[in-house]
Amino acid sequence: MHSVSPENTELVDLVLDYSRRRMLASDTPLDKPETEAELDRLAAGALTEEGIGASSALALFENVLAPACITTDHPQYLSFIPTAPRKAATAFDLVVSASAVYGGSWLEGSGAVYAENQALTWLAHEFGLPATAGGVFVQGGTLGNLSALVAAREHARRRVRESGAAMPARWMIVCSAEAHSSIASAAQVMDVDVVPVEPRDTGSLGSEGVRAALEEHAGSVFAVVATAGSTNFGIVDDVASIAALKGEFDFWLHVDGAYGLAAMLSPLARPLFAGVEHADSVIVDPHKWLFAPFDACALIYRDPEAGRQAHTQHAEYLDTLTQTSDWSPSDYAAHLTRRARGLPLWFSLATYGAGAYREAITAALRLAREIAHEIERRPHLRLVRQPQLSVVVFERDGWLPADYERWSARLLGEQRAFVTPSSHAGRTNTRFAILNPMTTLDQLTGILDTM
Ligand SMILES: *Cc1c(COP(=O)(O)O)cnc(C)c1O
Repeated sequence: MHSVSPENTELVDLVLDYSRRRMLASDTPLDKPETEAELDRLAAGALTEEGIGASSALALFENVLAPACITTDHPQYLSFIPTAPRKAATAFDLVVSASAVYGGSWLEGSGAVYAENQALTWLAHEFGLPATAGGVFVQGGTLGNLSALVAAREHARRRVRESGAAMPARWMIVCSAEAHSSIASAAQVMDVDVVPVEPRDTGSLGSEGVRAALEEHAGSVFAVVATAGSTNFGIVDDVASIAALKGEFDFWLHVDGAYGLAAMLSPLARPLFAGVEHADSVIVDPHKWLFAPFDACALIYRDPEAGRQAHTQHAEYLDTLTQTSDWSPSDYAAHLTRRARGLPLWFSLATYGAGAYREAITAALRLAREIAHEIERRPHLRLVRQPQLSVVVFERDGWLPADYERWSARLLGEQRAFVTPSSHAGRTNTRFAILNPMTTLDQLTGILDTM
């Protein structure tokens, strides 16, 4: 199984050939979920004592399993937050696997860690963070938020210990009532409380609500989370006004920009993100709007030492790694063994240059504005909010939840588009989440025509 045999050579060629075809195809259908019974019928016998051989296993994947997975990088995949990896990033993901790089420590993976850090430093600079900022690529935004908040609480605990004061009965996180569900999930894992604050009418969290929460829960709040691009609406909190409270109150400012922070690269959206430069930590998911494949979240600390103190694992067999001043990515989040998952972004950035990223992000912002305008022009449609970034939420007059469901199922059934119902304040709506550079205005107006 490990030797370079003729059989293994043929297997590698088969897999590379499939990957090449998939990466270079421009007509991969949207595909759709299949029932477990049907998959059972077609694929239940895959795992046997003797093995079915590479060509049969690959055929099963290509003809049965892959078509039962929605093509998330399809231009008409407009639900949730899509993904749209650049060719360079997807292709290089194969290289990362082929190279068996261990991305956890400098000792084992210095070259890869150096390149990942280059990408993180570039991002930190774009976000206005100091040159000393740094962090690590983790699996996703959920783990990025959790790791940042754990570092924030550790920092707060240390401050309280040093001052000789008593620890608060409960630690608390202040965030918008529209913050992502992963903040509540992190709080549950950490056994801390969330203080949800109502945002302004625009959907954006401002300092007035945060101030009231900080005053009410004085001494208990260790972190304020600002969302830089909410998942539902793409709304950016008023980070500058929240950051200004740091002069009066002692808290860690975490910016959850999993989806939206990428838009800071575009001059069109950059002003919305004023204040991000004051963050103590930020996250952004390259697998969302930075055109990298699943799964990668860039977690960046203003002071990486705070992350290292919270997360370094200690064990006798690890001492040789942790008792040096080398930069080991394992030390900056709740993980140990890790794939060097920042490398596809690094390779793609190096290949195409930052300018190509700014252009692609700007194009999505423009397209969102154009389709919002088109929605406003159509009498039976209603824009729920003006888009700030690239999520456009709208309602169809007179439609009940079941109408949206039927319409969404029909679009997917006809392999036309993947657009799912959503809701806000108890009203059903639907949304376009746009980030794929291959999505066009014609495709989107074509979808509106079906309503
Ligand atoms: C997607 C998202 C997350 C969670 O990221 P995952 O990579 O899915 O874990 C967190 N916050 C926001 C604002 C998001 O859009």
